[in-house]
Amino acid sequence: MLKLLLHAILGGLITAAIVTLAFPVLSALLLGAIAGGCAFMTMAWFGWLDCRRIRRVLGGECVTGIQGIDSEISETLKTIRAETESTVRNEVLARRLAEDRAESALRVLSSLDDPVIVIDDFGEVVEVNEAAVLLGRCDAGGKPSILQFLGDRELADNIDEASQGIGCGEVRRLEHEVSDAAEGAATAWEISIRRLDPGDRWVLVLHDVTRDREVSRLKSEFVTKASHELRTPLSSIHAYAEMLVDGEVDDGAQRSEFLRIVHEESARLARLVDNMLDISRIEAGVATADRTPVDLGRVAGRVVEAMRPRAKEREIDLVLRADGDDLTVEGDEDMLAEVLENLVGNAVKYTPDQGRVAVSIDPDGLTASVVTTVTDTGLGIPPGDLDRLFEKFYRIGQYERMAQGTGLGLNLCRNIVEKVHQGRIGVDSTLGMGSRFWFSVPVRYSGSTAA
Ligand code: ADP
Repeated sequence: MLKLLLHAILGGLITAAIVTLAFPVLSALLLGAIAGGCAFMTMAWFGWLDCRRIRRVLGGECVTGIQGIDSEISETLKTIRAETESTVRNEVLARRLAEDRAESALRVLSSLDDPVIVIDDFGEVVEVNEAAVLLGRCDAGGKPSILQFLGDRELADNIDEASQGIGCGEVRRLEHEVSDAAEGAATAWEISIRRLDPGDRWVLVLHDVTRDREVSRLKSEFVTKASHELRTPLSSIHAYAEMLVDGEVDDGAQRSEFLRIVHEESARLARLVDNMLDISRIEAGVATADRTPVDLGRVAGRVVEAMRPRAKEREIDLVLRADGDDLTVEGDEDMLAEVLENLVGNAVKYTPDQGRVAVSIDPDGLTASVVTTVTDTGLGIPPGDLDRLFEKFYRIGQYERMAQGTGLGLNLCRNIVEKVHQGRIGVDSTLGMGSRFWFSVPVRYSGSTAA
């Protein structure tokens, strides 16, 4: 095509030179034709004209002319537009789907109570959930190291060590205790480390196991204390019974004394077992309360009268004041009587001879409850023991010789008042001056969670 163009130009120039000299008019015409030809060829060469189509037009193939070409172009354009639109639509849908999935994954992550931290292979924090934000010592946005984020070198080192050589999808666990010096408390964490596929990220899930550890500690402590408390009366029963069986006691008075001890110790054993069963039933939520209207004034009168001989023996002045208008609450009469028996019994036990124990029952209109108070002029409670008094098997060391006990009475009282009756129980005391135990029970029972 280039050759043709050059030949055409060269030929045109020679012819033009000869003819111009001989025939000026004819040469002008020829020159115009040659220039037009050149222009046409140039346009065709650079594609400014559609040669194929021109060829077709010249060859008589194009039947519809310019109109036909237009409709073909517009059909092609329509197809291209439709295809483009569908591609764009599909891409938008795919992006929305991916965004929805990412959003719901983030929502799930945020709703977790356990802190979740994602770190990269440089040990930098790249993603955290809300629980982890609360735990973090610095803003996770600036990609801090796990050490900067958790502020605990030992933990960061343990995580680093545990994440070494871990396979994709594999999980490793480690336990770590963080103590808060300011609050004087420790938090025990179980940390699971999982390596994500393709493997340049690790997910750390921190699970707070402080409560689980405390529960298992309390359980084993309970078993130890319970076995110890059961063993004491059992050993004593066994020893006295053995002497009686072996005929080692000839003296009638001594025999009766031994039998009295066996009887007393077995009663203590039975009390201990009963208390333990009652407490565990209430704590497990399987204790059944027989709720009826209970007149606490009348119940207190019965308990005080039953206790009067014991108080009289020690010249303790035992008084009851229960003169309020309505002292009736909705509750389990036997259980409430047990609370009163424990509190009045303790007051008598831990008050020296010739002391005073006063029981009073009063309605409290403000809280719609009835308040029972047992005040004594006894030994009082050392301030350091006050907080632990309602714990299972807790006894004040220096009073243990003064009276027999199980250390379960007050814990049972608390369970009956708070769990079964949704009431409140408490104590205030001045060492050497006496104690004031009180409990309040709502007039109407409104809960469904208690037994
Ligand atoms: P216990 O069977 O030993 O009396 P409780 O649970 O009823 O068990 O009481 C726990 C401990 O609280 C008692 O051992 C005693 O040390 C102390 N305590 C209870 N009531 C009084 C009180 N009124 N005065 C002084 N100490 C008391």
